[in-house]
Amino acid sequence: MNSASEIWEAALGELQLQVNKPNYQTWFKGTRGLAFDGDQFLLGVPNAFVAEYLEKNQRSLIEKTLIGLTHRGVSARFQISWAQDGGSTRACEARRNVSALYGFNPKYTFDNFVVGAGNRMAHAAATSAAEQPSGQSYNPLFIYAAPGLGKTHLLQAIGQKALGNNLKPVYVSGEQFTNDFVAALRERRTDEFRAKYRSADMLMVDDIHFIAGKEATEESFFHTFNNLHNAGRQIVITSDRPPKSMPMLQERLRSRFEWGLTVDIQPPDFETRLAILQSKAEQAQTAVSPDVLDMMAHELKQNIRELEGSLNRIIAYARLLRAQITPELAARALKDVAGGKELPEARGNLEDVIGTVAGAFALSVDDLLGRKRDKEVAQARQVAMYVLRQKNGYSLCDIGTALGGRNSSTVSYACEKVAQDMANSHLLRRKVEDIQKKLTSGD
Ligand code: ADP
Ligand code: MG
Repeated sequence: MNSASEIWEAALGELQLQVNKPNYQTWFKGTRGLAFDGDQFLLGVPNAFVAEYLEKNQRSLIEKTLIGLTHRGVSARFQISWAQDGGSTRACEARRNVSALYGFNPKYTFDNFVVGAGNRMAHAAATSAAEQPSGQSYNPLFIYAAPGLGKTHLLQAIGQKALGNNLKPVYVSGEQFTNDFVAALRERRTDEFRAKYRSADMLMVDDIHFIAGKEATEESFFHTFNNLHNAGRQIVITSDRPPKSMPMLQERLRSRFEWGLTVDIQPPDFETRLAILQSKAEQAQTAVSPDVLDMMAHELKQNIRELEGSLNRIIAYARLLRAQITPELAARALKDVAGGKELPEARGNLEDVIGTVAGAFALSVDDLLGRKRDKEVAQARQVAMYVLRQKNGYSLCDIGTALGGRNSSTVSYACEKVAQDMANSHLLRRKVEDIQKKLTSGD
């Protein structure tokens, strides 16, 4: 029998034909066959993210392919083995690229969607559309809700799931569809336009109400819809109101929308709001005490976007004031929102931060981004990572990329190290605080 690595090379050759290109590039490219004992096949993958993805979404395809090649009952196991510098940064960039390619926000997945009484039905329908596309479930699936209740999140979760199942989703907003159509008309590219939408394995249109009353766009959408529906392709649509309340919509389109399943999302109840806040705080890797979350869930009732925005604001406020997130501080941050006062913006983008840190250590930006490993440079680099991490909105992946392509675990380690060193060294603490002050007070 051939070695694990040879078998896996052959398997990759087949997988390349079976999954689409972005998928292959993202998930399979950096994998290796490590060991095969005639039963278990051990695959080396670059990081935990890829391991988890393959485990959840591609295991059966991988096993099927391996069984075909080895004629044995193979079970696949994944091991993180490719800890080459920059590997994980590349993987998270690749994931971002694939998502961006299709217009998805990588955060809008089913995993990150909290289910409660108000959205249970919509969530169930969305999962079913994602798992059994091609119209076996409800076609079209029409989801409507007031703004900020998770329509776009659910829709993109369906799309990203489809992507994981090697289907080609086409995702547009009603507005993009309209613009695309108008541009195609103007530039005489309607054939291309038609081909683009009709090649979809799954069509997702967000905020369809935008096209209501735009006759030619409606007409074009009507034909696209019929074509895909006849071909058994899943169509998912969102709107801010049900089809029957779209007065401008042509009757024939309205009736198409009502062919499948129409579900709504209701505002979340208290427990769901609390669960969402907990989940978002966790994602932001910030500890927020239960009484603060409780207070927020009581006060903010209507809209999940507002809930999330307020949480981000409280986190930013606390960082800016370098204060603990107490109920008092939270109340103050929220009061300012209500009073319309702008949060004093913490200045400095990635480059500013790196430049400022380099200056404080009397080094050049190139030193920080480069490969030098002597103590001084290494510490300055770690401080830059720490300072960036303290700012809201930069992920480990962003930071690693900005600092010359370091991987996320390097960044995570650096942040812990600096926090620890700051506790032990008065001098370092002062230095970091000076940098932070400089960045906050502006140029
Ligand atoms: P809509 O498209 O209905 O206006 P979005 O899908 O943009 O709303 O949701 C607004 C924000 O609230 C997004 O950041 C989204 O991730 C979040 N959100 C909405 N519903 C949920 C949920 N059930 N669980 C977690 N986050 C949610
Ligand atoms: Mg939306």
